[in-house]
Amino acid sequence: MGFERAASIKPAPLIDPFQRAITYLRVSVTDRCDFRCVYCMSENMSFLPKQDLLTLEELDRLCGAFIDRGVAKLRLTGGEPLVRRSIMTLVRALSRRLGDGLDELTLTTNGSQLPKYARELADCGVKRINVSLDTLDPDKFRAITRWGEFDKVMAGIDAAQSAGLAVKINAVALKGVNEDELVDLTAWSHGRGMDLTIIEVMPLGDIDENRLDQYLPLSMVRARLAERYTMREIDYRTGGPARYVHVAETGGRLGFITPLTHNFCESCNRVRLTCTGTLYMCLGQEDAADLRAPLRASESNDLVNAAIDAAILRKPKGHDFVIDRRHRGPAVTRHMSVTGG
Ligand code: SAM
Ligand code: SF4
Repeated sequence: MGFERAASIKPAPLIDPFQRAITYLRVSVTDRCDFRCVYCMSENMSFLPKQDLLTLEELDRLCGAFIDRGVAKLRLTGGEPLVRRSIMTLVRALSRRLGDGLDELTLTTNGSQLPKYARELADCGVKRINVSLDTLDPDKFRAITRWGEFDKVMAGIDAAQSAGLAVKINAVALKGVNEDELVDLTAWSHGRGMDLTIIEVMPLGDIDENRLDQYLPLSMVRARLAERYTMREIDYRTGGPARYVHVAETGGRLGFITPLTHNFCESCNRVRLTCTGTLYMCLGQEDAADLRAPLRASESNDLVNAAIDAAILRKPKGHDFVIDRRHRGPAVTRHMSVTGG
């Protein structure tokens, strides 16, 4: 069917059993990545066979079905979304829905491919992106990402800003690794006109390291930042789970995502689609629905819509992450790179 939209009567919006409207879809377009961040992947990851992936046309069609059901914000993620071959074909196709159901098309990236794609992303109507960066120290950066090149990411951030994209930096707080750098990372981000969000490490997927060694509660991060900065809670929201403060000394915004110390599920408006067409209703639960079979079974979206309806009815009230002190394993066995961060 190519990148054409199937004509259909507008189906009902997606409301879950707890009366939350589902308006935000995150799509992991690939589970592959050019980095191997220590909190996200093991060094020797096995990836999905390429034949299991949805084509870009299929991903576009599924996203379109969600937009028809009231999804107004779409975030491409992964793995690294910009390493999927011909990814800009999908971005361009999705961008046609901007102003036609879709309010925002965005992505989360490690930044390595931004020198190549930043301008085209802006041309497609992408206004802001998240770039993950945990440290400003090139050696530490290499140790955290294993394979990443700091200079390339810096060039990527430069390219994004030159193309007019608003950049938000995402940093995972890692005990003993970057905890002493978060004050500087805040000053640096705000100095360049970028928001910074600090994320608590989540127990997702088997990695080579011990989660307990990495885990740093954001309450401690905040206490440390408060020694240097005057932080005032603000109402600012981006549709995601971060809670923001305004930092008086820098004039910038600082967000905190605290899945372990603060359960943010009550306002959850999102679901996650993987590159094989599996829909996860919650990042922290195993339950999922297959949308690939109904998608491939018919050219109309009726079966897909029925599968989406059935899935949304199973969206749980919330997740229940705990860092398991006895087993030291992951709370959820799939990696963040599969479900999409
Ligand atoms: N490759 C892209 C990137 O790094 O931005 C997109 C995918 S990545 C899985 C999305 C976000 O999830 C990144 O900001 C990353 O730091 C974060 N992340 C990965 N594993 C995590 C974990 N176990 N706990 C918390 N955040 C994690
Ligand atoms: Fe790749 Fe992003 Fe995971 Fe790092 S966090 S390994 S960049 S998917």
